[in-house]
This record gives sequence, structure tokens and C-alpha cells, in this order.
Amino acid sequence: MKDTELFQLALSLMPPWMVEECAFDVSQKRLDLHINFERGGVFVCPVCGRAGCKAYDTEEKTWRHLNFFEHETYLHAFVPRVQCPDCGIKTAGVPWARPGSGFTLLFEALVLAMAKQMPVKAVAGIVREHDTRIWRILHYHVNEARAREDFSKVRRVGMDETSRKKGHRYVSFFVDMDRRKLLFGTPGKDAATVEAFARDLEAHHGDPAQIREVSLDMSHALIQGAGEHLPNAQLTFDKFHAVKLVNDALEEVRREEQKSHHELKSSRYLWLRNPRNLKRDQHERLAVLLGQSHLKTGRAYRIKLAFQDLYTQPVRTAQDYLSRWYFWATHSRLAPIITHSRDAGAAGAPRKGPTTRSPSRLAKLVLTAISPF
Ligand SMILES: [Zn+2]
Repeated sequence: MKDTELFQLALSLMPPWMVEECAFDVSQKRLDLHINFERGGVFVCPVCGRAGCKAYDTEEKTWRHLNFFEHETYLHAFVPRVQCPDCGIKTAGVPWARPGSGFTLLFEALVLAMAKQMPVKAVAGIVREHDTRIWRILHYHVNEARAREDFSKVRRVGMDETSRKKGHRYVSFFVDMDRRKLLFGTPGKDAATVEAFARDLEAHHGDPAQIREVSLDMSHALIQGAGEHLPNAQLTFDKFHAVKLVNDALEEVRREEQKSHHELKSSRYLWLRNPRNLKRDQHERLAVLLGQSHLKTGRAYRIKLAFQDLYTQPVRTAQDYLSRWYFWATHSRLAPIITHSRDAGAAGAPRKGPTTRSPSRLAKLVLTAISPF
């Protein structure tokens, strides 16, 4: 078997395409395969698909292919421009690459596989290509794959944001909670990000009005955005943000009270930390403080522990538990608790549609429960 036939087989080339010549440069660590088509070969029109189009002229093109062992491998071919009676003169497609790409499909498949596992810069380093060329491959295939996505069955969405750099430049992500699949990502973390998601949903056969549930953090902008752009969704706030509200209220109570009760000074972490994580001497100090029944901070602390317990309740009794907790908190005569408990109560209970409360008003709810007034 001739070497050209061997490469012809390896590339799975079918007539009229054939490997005409191969040049192996050991010192350059490079293999060049020259592909040509048989004289009189006919091609398919790339626009309308008509078969049997004759070559009008040719253009020489080069594609980077998978390495042949350690040798960078390039395919070269004179690609015909075909004359179609309906579409005019068009460049024919080739079976080893997509139109406009300087890489073969196999090379692109390798890049896609690697990019799932490592940063693009690392991929670029390994295959010895500039990273902008690697990005171009990724953008093409990601856009192609996303264009085929069908979001018509999405009903429950989770939103979260992360910062690209510490402290700023946020990116928001939207996830299908049922299929555990990333749907959409966009810069920012405001109401406009929810709108962008809703538009993307529509572009993929989804319907924002069909979204029944959204889980998000307690950002006013996101709540507003969800209310406007996902009109029928119940909002659920995550535990972290709800518990933080109650903790903030507790700390407010303590800070106010320490002015008259010096024993509360420097005790902040005793109240905020999970009791399980306290050291023995911290436990003891907390127990002494809790033993002073007149301390408002102690009352606020019990309300906070009870709120955390909400998340360990069985689903069927959780609503009832929350209602009782809410009554307790809002009648605690501890102002910060009353204020914040309204927020946390709202966070514990799924709500419909846009909020009419401002964040500070929500905050008032939780704190009200602790209020001494
Ligand atoms: Zn045509």
C-alpha cells in the first residue's frame, strides 16, 4: 500500500477526494498532506444541496489536523467553486472541515474535549495555536449547540451570581432546577439580567410566563426583575440570605444593648456562630449570658435559633412552623427583629410575583419580631 493510500484510509476520504501527496519533514516535525479531487468530479451545491455540480475553478486552502504522533499535521486542498444553475458560483464544502474554519473537524473535536477540562490558554499552549483561534472554535460550536436548545419544558429556575474578580464584575447564571442544567449566563446582577434571561428563554422556545418557581438571593434588583419578567413565578430565597437577615437583626439588638449591659461587649461571635462551633469557654460564657433572662439579646438569640430550625422541619409542617415563628418574632418587642423577621418570613415562605416591599421594609419584618417596643 502506498503512503498516500494509507492516509486516504486514515482520513476516511471518499471519491472524488483523494490524498495526492504527503510530505514528511522530520526536522520541522511536520506532516503535510495534499488532497485533490479526480478530474471531472462533481459536487453538491453548498447552498441548495443540488448534486452533480461541476467545478468552476478552485481555491487553495489549508487546515490544521490532529497531530500525527508529535508532528503537526496540515491538510492542503484545491477546493472547487461549483457552478449551480440556481445559486451561481459557490465554494463547495469539504467532508473534513466546516466552512470557513482553518481546522479539521477532528482537530476541533479535540479542542472541545480539552476545553471542558482546562482553561483555553492551556489548550492553546498544548496544541500550539493562538488562544483567539481556540476561542473562535469554542464560540462557533457553543453558539451552534445553544441554537438547537429547547427550553420549552423549563418550569423551575435557580439564579445565582458570582464575581469574575474578587468583589466586582458580576456574572449571573440561570439553571434549570429539574434537569440540573445551566441555561444562561450574562454579566451583571441586576433586573436587566433577568430580562436578558427571559429573552433568551423565548429565543429557545421557552415562555417566561411558564416559569413557576424561581430561587434567588434577596437582592431587591433581582426580586424586581423576577417580578417583571417572570410574572407567574413564585420566589424562593435561599437559606443563607434569610438566616443572615435574622443574624443582622440579632447583632443590632446586641449592639444597642451593650451600651447599658457591658457584659455583652465583645460577645458578637458567641451569638452569631453555630453553637456547635463554639469552644468550651465560649459555650460557658454564652450560657452565663443566656442565664440572664432580662437580656434582650438572649431573647433575640432564641428567635434566631428557632428560625434556623425552620429548615429542619418536615415540608408539610414547615408553613405552620414559620407562621408561629413569625408571630413570635413580630411580637417580640425587639425592633430590629420585627423589621428583619418580615424579610426572613418572606424568605422562608414562597411568594408570588413582584414584591411591593422595599428591602428595608422587608428587613423591618424580621427585626420587628425582636423589638422591645
Ligand atoms: Zn444551489
